[in-house]
Amino acid sequence: MTTSVDPVGRLPEEWREAMQALGEKPFRAEQVFRWIHERGVLDPDQMSDLSKPLREKLKASGFAPPARVADKHAAADGTRKLVLELANGARVECVIIPMTDVPDADASAAPEDDEDDDPTAPEKTRITLCVSTQYGCAMGCVFCASGQAGLQRGLTASEVVAQVLISKQHLEPHEELKNLVFMGMGEPLHHYDETARAIRLLTHPTARGMSPRRITVSTVGLVPGIARLGADFGGKVGLAVSLHAPNDIIRDRIMPMNRKYPIVELMRALREYPLPQRRRITIEYTLMDGVNDGVAEARELVQLLRGLRVKVNLIPMNPISASELKAPSGARVAAFQRVLSENGVSCFVRTRRGDEVSAACGQLAIADDLVRKKRERDALRDASKQ
Ligand code: SAH
Repeated sequence: MTTSVDPVGRLPEEWREAMQALGEKPFRAEQVFRWIHERGVLDPDQMSDLSKPLREKLKASGFAPPARVADKHAAADGTRKLVLELANGARVECVIIPMTDVPDADASAAPEDDEDDDPTAPEKTRITLCVSTQYGCAMGCVFCASGQAGLQRGLTASEVVAQVLISKQHLEPHEELKNLVFMGMGEPLHHYDETARAIRLLTHPTARGMSPRRITVSTVGLVPGIARLGADFGGKVGLAVSLHAPNDIIRDRIMPMNRKYPIVELMRALREYPLPQRRRITIEYTLMDGVNDGVAEARELVQLLRGLRVKVNLIPMNPISASELKAPSGARVAAFQRVLSENGVSCFVRTRRGDEVSAACGQLAIADDLVRKKRERDALRDASKQ
């Protein structure tokens, strides 16, 4: 295993090597790992049971918080967004979503079974946290601001983990992080190694990490990545697939990656995903007016999903400045949903959470910002050609 450059991204065995290199006792490795991943401490100076010289050595070896909070916004529905600043000018938003009792998309991306909940514990508000894996995105989906912005850079595992650790510090005492969804900016499976490392760090038993069943990775449908994720985590990590179309004609048009991994191959990858019993794959379907939202497409979707253990999240498209596409009327959404329900496909319409803080899917303000900058660059380039 290659040792991660960034200390926050190190696994315990890598910390042991690092401690050895610093001339420290091996047990310090677990101690530091727990400070970071169990207690969320990202500053060596706050690791109170380490000697001053060790703290100094850690800092000298490049240990520093991978992110800092630049801004915080709260919406009336309780959704909060943290804007985090990372190295080299990269920025990401983490969205903290309190789950109300309505079966909402993000809740339904999470496992139905709650056997590890303590029934005697006082009821806490369950939080779903949405994190990013890249700054921008290379997938090019036409309805998504990140896709239109293009990829700036992938985030390191430590930057992904920092989003979780920092967001946890912004929870209220009555709130508890229950589910983690990799549904922010970027394509997690296009950046597989760092994504997988982040999951290993977040679920590590040494720091009493979260159960992998509470983590859901959302993908445009990168077939080899789905297979790797399934094999590496034994199917325990939840999988969500952005399908958005029941056939290749529509999907090719709105999701360029479909030309590389067409629907038959994607469906095969989903059938082969080693899903534990009682778990289902989440199918995300963003409804775009006049594009993929007709009753005919709903019927086609029913056929396509036949025999697969899935639940469908219907997401009326959130408007973005980079596209003219828009959400269908409520009546069309309802008609689409009716076809699925009547045919025994379990589905939810995702309520628009965090709209007013631009935290809704595909709308993250940072992505919009990137699109604007790209347009400005393109305009400059065009002007210099004339
Ligand atoms: N790259 C991953 C995860 C990031 S996007 C993926 O594609 O799944 C998270 C979800 O938001 C995806 O289902 C994506 O298709 C959807 N999405 C993107 N832009 C949207 C928009 N403008 N309106 C509604 N959903 C959108």
